[in-house]
Amino acid sequence: MIDLKKICQEKGLRMTGQRSIIADIITELGGHPAGHPDVNLIYMKASEKDSNISIATVYRTVKLFEEYGVIEKHDFKDGRSRYEPIQESNHHDHLIDIESGDVYEFSNSEIETIQKRIAEELGFELVDHRLELYGKKINK
Ligand SMILES: [Zn+2]
Repeated sequence: MIDLKKICQEKGLRMTGQRSIIADIITELGGHPAGHPDVNLIYMKASEKDSNISIATVYRTVKLFEEYGVIEKHDFKDGRSRYEPIQESNHHDHLIDIESGDVYEFSNSEIETIQKRIAEELGFELVDHRLELYGKKINK
């Protein structure tokens, strides 16, 4: 488990009480299906811990974390940006349940290899990629 608070401090970001609360929430919700929280969810959880936190503070803090390169923003087509801690050691792609908005993480070495090959065939060294699958749960 990564510690977003510690990473922020290492990057020289001053961690106030409210920033720490927000960092903890993003860390806790990180890889869970209902995770990859948007600002509203972070705000809801944050106000349970500190009723003085405003949604404006959450917006500002999330933007700050993003600028410092400690969290990553995703736009999963539903009009709300989602956030998760950046973990270089844990590359993964996402499958988004279009009905519930849940986000499932996966990684697949075959896909990774194919992507590298495609880039090479086009004359590139692959440095990054983003893959999102959108799906509906199959009723059984
Ligand atoms: Zn993820």
